[in-house]
Amino acid sequence: MDWNQLAQLLFPTIDKTPADYEALYPARDLKDGARVTRFAPSPTGFLHFGNLFTCLVSYKTAKCTDGVFYVRVEDTDQKRKVDGAIEVMLKGLSVYGIVPDEGVIGENEETGAYGPYYQSARKEIYQAFAKSLVEQGLAYPCFMTAEELDEIRAAQENESIKGIWGKWAKHRDLSFEEIAARIAAGEAWTLRLKSPGTPEGKCYFDDMIKGKIEMPENLQDVVLLKSDGIPTYHFAHAVDDHLMRTTHVVRGDEWISSAPIHLQLFKLLGFKAPKYAHVAPIMKEENGGKRKLSKRKDPEAAVTYYAEEGFPSESVNEYILTLANSNFEDWRRMNADEPLEKFPFNLKKMSVSGALFDMVKLTDVSKNVICKMPAEKVFALSYEWAKEYHPALAALYEQDTARATAILNIDRENKKPRKDIAKWSDIPAYLSYMYDETFIPCYDLTGNATPALAVKVLEKYIDIVNLADSKEEWFERIKGMCESVGCTPNVKEYKQNPAAFDGHVGDVSTVIRVALTGRTNTPDLYEITRLLGETTVKARLAAALAHYKEEN
Ligand code: GLU
Repeated sequence: MDWNQLAQLLFPTIDKTPADYEALYPARDLKDGARVTRFAPSPTGFLHFGNLFTCLVSYKTAKCTDGVFYVRVEDTDQKRKVDGAIEVMLKGLSVYGIVPDEGVIGENEETGAYGPYYQSARKEIYQAFAKSLVEQGLAYPCFMTAEELDEIRAAQENESIKGIWGKWAKHRDLSFEEIAARIAAGEAWTLRLKSPGTPEGKCYFDDMIKGKIEMPENLQDVVLLKSDGIPTYHFAHAVDDHLMRTTHVVRGDEWISSAPIHLQLFKLLGFKAPKYAHVAPIMKEENGGKRKLSKRKDPEAAVTYYAEEGFPSESVNEYILTLANSNFEDWRRMNADEPLEKFPFNLKKMSVSGALFDMVKLTDVSKNVICKMPAEKVFALSYEWAKEYHPALAALYEQDTARATAILNIDRENKKPRKDIAKWSDIPAYLSYMYDETFIPCYDLTGNATPALAVKVLEKYIDIVNLADSKEEWFERIKGMCESVGCTPNVKEYKQNPAAFDGHVGDVSTVIRVALTGRTNTPDLYEITRLLGETTVKARLAAALAHYKEEN
């Protein structure tokens, strides 16, 4: 067989050679050790939390070596294409600080010297490499129909090795004349690899995450080009990651079973294989077992969920690092105030079997992140969120943004800030009593505070409350009224002789707190009182007094 003649028959219009493309996309001029990684989504428009996770791992892998991170869109399956998907996905990533250095940066918009970065625009490139494989006798056209392939599948049901190989690879050795005749008759063909693999052969590689791997080598004549000339994932992966000079392929571990195909392709194409880092899927605990985080079952599988709930991106990033690197939390304890970029991310510290998603943990991490934010930032971020997802909160904020910020500043910016807020959607309930519009009175008391005590306390306090007090004056004033209502200002004294008092200063405060906020546990009551303002304070004290009088 004259392979050149066959290659010309199959690809008459392809005149560029692999050498032309090698020259067009030369090795990158990067410093030693700089890694080139990519994110290669199909344009479905849905960003799974697992995609974000893998993408962040890929991004960090490049960034911590001053390398390059690029985005390539794998849009060869036109059926799965969704309009506007790329914009949505890129926006989803940018929220988490992932901005590609190169590649697709917008809908039909790209930058960089290694493009095009949309696979649909690379057809001629794939075909040039395919043609070259044919010229070397390493690939051949296969005319098997879908029915024939189904028959083979059925016949192989009990075979240990499946797929198109050995006797099943029926069109491996067709003559040039037969091929030419079939093509002339308009028969559709796919291009298959002529795999040199054998059933005994082994494939070895060292995965950056999973470690040393040994698998049977590939012996299937896998499809390289489909009948429409569009490459399969396998072939496009080899050609693209080589020409785009990817050094580290970070991808989901569902691809690990195909790695023998990929390594074989790299070899036959004469490319240096990249390093692989196969990321295990994010898992979720269910009924004592584990399963993959599922788009269908788990709302938190969608990256949009976090924006809707109002988890700040910093929290999600921080949480992802706890999932990604086992030593992250130790690092965080030692470096409480360092920005995340300083964390020395390491692929070798990734979980081999799949990190467990834990909402309680995310909530905890996020509370820690938010409690350290200055009030202005909490206000700004939660206002942005509210404008989109909670207009009622935005409207409350807009009454007086300085007051809203001051409310968010209560018990913040001190050594032990409170951790009430895990996500912006916690805020409406958190500060509902600070606005008359959302205040819901509740006069339930705790401790020694009884309705009878409440009446005495409120009758007194309503006359003496003074919003001009300093914090010390305010507290002295409350302590000062204790005796007149049968309580002691001294908790210790109360504990030594409880029978002698109706309660202590804490109980007196509880009455005031419940009257003003409807709650028994709030941040600093002094600040709350000040920010409520005289009119509201007096009105709420009076309403509570009336309530307890009636209850008595
Ligand atoms: N388009 C493939 C996917 O979404 C990319 C896998 C890879 O990163 O190579 O699964």
